[in-house]
Amino acid sequence: MVPLGGDRYRFTFGRADRTDTATDNPITPEEITAALQALYGHETTLGAVDNSSRFSDATRQLEHYRVGRVLFAGDAAHIHPPLGGQGLNLGIQDAFNLGWKLAATVQDRAPSGLLDSYHAERHPVGAQVLHHTSAQRVLAAPNPSEDLAALRDIFIDLLRLPDTNRHLAGLMSGLSLRYELSGDHPLIGQRLPDADLVTEAGPTRLPALFGSGHAVLLDLAGTVPADLRLPPRVDLVRATCADDLGAAVLLIRPDGYVCWAADDSAACGDALLAAIAGNLARVR
Ligand SMILES: Cc1cc2nc3c(=O)[nH]c(=O)nc-3n(C[C@H](O)[C@H](O)[C@H](O)COP(=O)(O)OP(=O)(O)OC[C@H]3O[C@@H](n4cnc5c(N)ncnc54)[C@H](O)[C@@H]3O)c2cc1C
Repeated sequence: MVPLGGDRYRFTFGRADRTDTATDNPITPEEITAALQALYGHETTLGAVDNSSRFSDATRQLEHYRVGRVLFAGDAAHIHPPLGGQGLNLGIQDAFNLGWKLAATVQDRAPSGLLDSYHAERHPVGAQVLHHTSAQRVLAAPNPSEDLAALRDIFIDLLRLPDTNRHLAGLMSGLSLRYELSGDHPLIGQRLPDADLVTEAGPTRLPALFGSGHAVLLDLAGTVPADLRLPPRVDLVRATCADDLGAAVLLIRPDGYVCWAADDSAACGDALLAAIAGNLARVR
């Protein structure tokens, strides 16, 4: 039961006695009342129902997110039970991954293979989330057996440990999987977490740098040469950060993933331009 404000609630319940998967049968007030009273006692009465829908587990994922000129994202590419509240997040990340690649491709500035990297990067993330929601579906089964109830208790204890919690949050959000990008630095292929920065324009947060849809060359040490010729759509941002982000200079794609990083200024010349050409756009 999730409070929605005022005297309205969203009530989600499972039915162990339904074996069909049809989702278009109307939901009756008697059905809702029975579930409410089973949980909250016979004195609980149902007021009005604003909206109701039935869903089942329709887990599936496309084998290919790209078929010629057609690209699939969001629920069109993957669906799963909504229990963990991951679907929207996963779909938005697909779109975020795809948007700048499509723009670069139609404007003829994409390096070879950039658009195909959409499937290569996003399909494994979708598969991981589906794997995770399958486990949630088992744990959340209505009328669990004794064995399952014991497993649930152990799981609840594990979730109270910060490390387990962080690990599962990474899986649920689909943010913990690294992309396979070339380069030696350990940050390459990871999505940078949020961080407070201070730039010449004042305090800001890392995600605010991506509002333009451009890639960002983040210089945290003031070592990027002022005369380095960056291509259009790569914004140089000089900033300080109280947190250790793991590198002194980072090249971050428009979707927040690190595609190049360096700890010293010596690497900021040709190696950086090669990384831009390989990951973001042809450098003209
Ligand atoms: C009960 C339930 C609870 C959920 N709770 C959460 C939650 O808490 N957190 C979360 O992150 N996710 C949740 N989800 C999942 C989330 O709703 C979906 O992952 C998300 O809405 C998918 O967005 P989408 O844009 O990919 O697809 P959709 O939201 O399905 O959008 C597709 C749109 O395309 C339209 N359309 C379809 N065919 C055509 C056509 N031929 N021409 C034109 N338009 C068309 C449809 O009408 C629809 O508006 C929940 C899902 C359910 C069922």
